[in-house]
Amino acid sequence: MASMDKILAAYKERVALHETGTSPFAKGIAWIENKLVPLHEARIPILDQGFWHSDLAYDAPAVWNGRFFRLDDHIDRLDASCDKILLKSPLPRDEMKRILCDMVSKTGLRDAQAVIIVTRGLTDVRGWDPRKLVNNLYMFVKPYGWLMQPENHYAGGSAMVARTVHRIPPGAIDPTVKNLQWGDLIRSVLEAQDCGATYPFLTDQEGNLTEGPGFNIHLVQDGVIYTPDRGVLQGITRRSVFDLCKANGVEIRVDVVPVDMVYQCEEIFLSSTAGGILPITKLDGAPVRDGNPGPITMKVWDAYWEMHDDAAYNFQIEYTSP
Ligand code: PLP
Repeated sequence: MASMDKILAAYKERVALHETGTSPFAKGIAWIENKLVPLHEARIPILDQGFWHSDLAYDAPAVWNGRFFRLDDHIDRLDASCDKILLKSPLPRDEMKRILCDMVSKTGLRDAQAVIIVTRGLTDVRGWDPRKLVNNLYMFVKPYGWLMQPENHYAGGSAMVARTVHRIPPGAIDPTVKNLQWGDLIRSVLEAQDCGATYPFLTDQEGNLTEGPGFNIHLVQDGVIYTPDRGVLQGITRRSVFDLCKANGVEIRVDVVPVDMVYQCEEIFLSSTAGGILPITKLDGAPVRDGNPGPITMKVWDAYWEMHDDAAYNFQIEYTSP
């Protein structure tokens, strides 16, 4: 737990220091129609198809300790999402990156989440033909978000397999397009709350494990990590898990994962840009093995945060605001 203590204590110190700052954007900033506004004052036009029909693609890279982590990988995924549903970002990549860095700098946040949303655009501009609308871009930066509060990483979180809802089939909505059509995921959150759990796991119509609201799922069995190959977003944190497994000689298999495996495996962890590697120690109300985060989960946890010091995955943001 030494690495966890160190990483989370340093994060808390940075947050405490940020709270003494005076930037008008300290709580977040948004870029809407070419203007920067404090996040909580940001408004989107009601006729935007992104709002009206969730006709959009988005991505959400993180800043950790003053450095963007895997920003180009997130923008690559955003571009791929846009390509699949015939959207195009109105800004070229370099300009988008420049504005994002400027936004983070203006907030002074050392740990942040950036959100980049490309929508189909306004319906009243040229009517209903999706191919004819002018695509819009919205961006905002907010304090770093945790799917599992940092203090809960020690004991791990409580998950359940959703029974009342399946993940929407890829033939209906392609889960590799990062999207905000969260009807199934929200239903699963409500079901989990009814059962006293925090993290719902969704299955597909064939009884295979998929993912949950904001995270990919990983199971450890006989020293091998398994993660579903279908019905899921290709998470950037999951990709970090692939990279660090390769570097550390841990075997990982991306495959069909029958849901039964969650009850047989030795360890479970989630991956998400919102908090990294999240240990799961309770499933359907019962402890996972001895009820503590397992050794492979902790090895992945440590290696994931070590990657944040590796220049291959990061670049420093120049801050103008203290
Ligand atoms: N799956 C879904 C449905 C998500 O929304 C997310 C992140 O928001 C993830 C998985 C994890 O992806 P990443 O590691 O890129 O944050």
